[in-house]
Amino acid sequence: MSGPPVGWVGEALHLSGVVLPEGEHRDVWVRDGRFTFEPVPGAETISRGGWLLPGLVDAHCHVGIGPGGTGLEDRDVTRQQALDERAAGVLALRDCGSPVDTRFLDDEPDLPRIIRAGRHIAAPRRYIPGLAVEVEPADLVAAVRLQARRGDGWVKLVGDWIDRGVGDLAPEWPADVVAAAIAAAHEEGARVTAHTFGTDALPGLIGAGIDCIEHGSGLTEDLVAEMASRGTAVVPTLVNVENFPGFAAAGEAKFPAYASTMRRLYASSGAVVRAAFDAGVPVFAGTDAGGGIAHGRIADEIRALHGAGLPAEAALAAGSWAARSWLGLPCIEEGAPADLVVYDADPRQDLEVLMRPQRMVLRGRVVG
Ligand SMILES: [Zn+2]
Repeated sequence: MSGPPVGWVGEALHLSGVVLPEGEHRDVWVRDGRFTFEPVPGAETISRGGWLLPGLVDAHCHVGIGPGGTGLEDRDVTRQQALDERAAGVLALRDCGSPVDTRFLDDEPDLPRIIRAGRHIAAPRRYIPGLAVEVEPADLVAAVRLQARRGDGWVKLVGDWIDRGVGDLAPEWPADVVAAAIAAAHEEGARVTAHTFGTDALPGLIGAGIDCIEHGSGLTEDLVAEMASRGTAVVPTLVNVENFPGFAAAGEAKFPAYASTMRRLYASSGAVVRAAFDAGVPVFAGTDAGGGIAHGRIADEIRALHGAGLPAEAALAAGSWAARSWLGLPCIEEGAPADLVVYDADPRQDLEVLMRPQRMVLRGRVVG
């Protein structure tokens, strides 16, 4: 590491290296928190000869959820979760539902940008206790409108969960209710995403024009084709899908059908991601950190997407430039807010490189 120390805020910065995704060697300057390709006299050079990536994105995580799935009261722990994401090169994250108000983090310029989905919305007793706003189907539209106004352009539904009466995964909402809720969110200017593990909730959600599916392990060939034609995205959270065998074992005694469903979904999870990608469904990298999964594992998720069959560059795009564009964030371009991560080797050639960010600039500040 060379140049000024972490936390340094100077007149201007300079970096030279291979800028991704274009792959061209360029000189980049940072002034007033923004990128410019016009030389800035007197700028401090902080990196030469590396690979410059638009800041990584964790497209599905939960800042503010602690171990056991409860809301964090402790602001220092909440802040540390955001710092753990940043240490992995994540400079923007989509918070896919949090039970506590994390807006205080927005006042801290050294922390990643957070795009929130408000609180999860679930049917009564159909999600992890204490996390979601739980409403009857008749109240879903109103709940969606409220969360749409509280979030940053996203609403998060719980689409399916174990139904203890059935003993297996089952949809939480009637299809007509879900359609009205998605339409209401769109009227409010928010996009909608939904947690689903199984298959049965998916036709109603996708057919109603939902914008994204979280996990999506129950996607079928027909549903993938419909998502591709509609442009519906999926965030597979393969880091979390690794827990499915554990969920199955925990439920085995009381809910054997559920356990067998979870094992089946686990077995096909990689093939589902590959099929979605091959069909042209936008696939993005999200870890589902918060609760049972530690923050800061985006490199694991990107490598898991590659392991499922995405080419390395596509897996990288899923956790960087493509995800940024999807969330409305610019990349390394003239006038854009200066968020980038530098690596000392080409991550397109070897995704292991992502484990070792060399330098990080966030909002024009050196943060790593
Ligand atoms: Zn989640």
